[in-house]
Amino acid sequence: MSIGREGNSKNLIFPPVGRLAPSPTGEMHLGNLRTFLCAWLSIRANHGKLWMRMEDIDLSRVRPLSVESIVDDLAWFGLDWDGEPLIQSDRFLEHKESLEILQSRELAYPCICTRADVERAASAPHAGQQGQQYPGTCAQNTTSTAQELTVPFAWRFRHDRESETFRDLVKGEVSEAVRGDFVIWKAGKGIQSVGPSYQFAVVMDDHFQGVTEVVRGDDLLASTAKQIGIARALGIPSPAWIHVPLVIGEDGLRLAKRHGDNKVSSFRKQKVPSDVLCGYLAWSLGWNDAKVPMVPKDLLHNWSWQSMNKMPWVLGKDTLREMGFDPAKAG
Ligand code: GLU
Repeated sequence: MSIGREGNSKNLIFPPVGRLAPSPTGEMHLGNLRTFLCAWLSIRANHGKLWMRMEDIDLSRVRPLSVESIVDDLAWFGLDWDGEPLIQSDRFLEHKESLEILQSRELAYPCICTRADVERAASAPHAGQQGQQYPGTCAQNTTSTAQELTVPFAWRFRHDRESETFRDLVKGEVSEAVRGDFVIWKAGKGIQSVGPSYQFAVVMDDHFQGVTEVVRGDDLLASTAKQIGIARALGIPSPAWIHVPLVIGEDGLRLAKRHGDNKVSSFRKQKVPSDVLCGYLAWSLGWNDAKVPMVPKDLLHNWSWQSMNKMPWVLGKDTLREMGFDPAKAG
């Protein structure tokens, strides 16, 4: 990946349309919340619309109570959205129709390779999960080859470029390798293994919801290159891209269980007030001089992509102390 000059707002549309797109595969942690705060600010500060989309297509990873807990944590924190949440799996038929368009143009082909690749496809590939370059083993297949295949097969998108260059409002000009044709439709044994990949569903749904800007963690930059390719093939305009730096552990890796319990619900259980958490996150983003408690609305006139801290936020082991919160003194 290469990154150039800092972005400007040339490709922004006003009023903007954004989305919060959590995967209900577990509870929300501090890093997710920080990115959602950024997405919310960008829309609310510009009087746009913010949709909620539950990205639940990875049935093997969806956890039944996650939807409720995510919605509840966001409301507690002070983030809202417009209308009812869109449930991604409800759009299976529309996704299928879009796949058929690509098939009819020979822009998708059936592929019997790499089970691991196919299994991973329904989830967003966060840092380190991008997989290998696809060598093109099945690229000579055509849509009609599918009728001859006797084993389960996926559909791969025929990406016509080795890399994509795009403008990101935070990162500037970004060039990302594509790593070959990639899975857009899983087809295996059993209902859980059939359906659109994350890369495919996200493009269709952002378009369906009229999304004009995507704000998400910068570990999804490689996915953006793939999504731009799909959108171009279908004649869909791409949104403005805004990739924000992640919260990471002291080992430099994306926040995970091994870094301790940073679930929003755990902070709530320890009686951390939402304004303490928000003040801390705002401080980490460069929008609060000190860890002064505040609610998201207080930030509306005080934030900008230009003034955002562009470095990943390294979380120490004792998050509560970093926040300046003493559980012993909590009422
Ligand atoms: N649902 C994805 C995730 O939680 C994010 C998708 C996106 O923002 O494009 O990892």
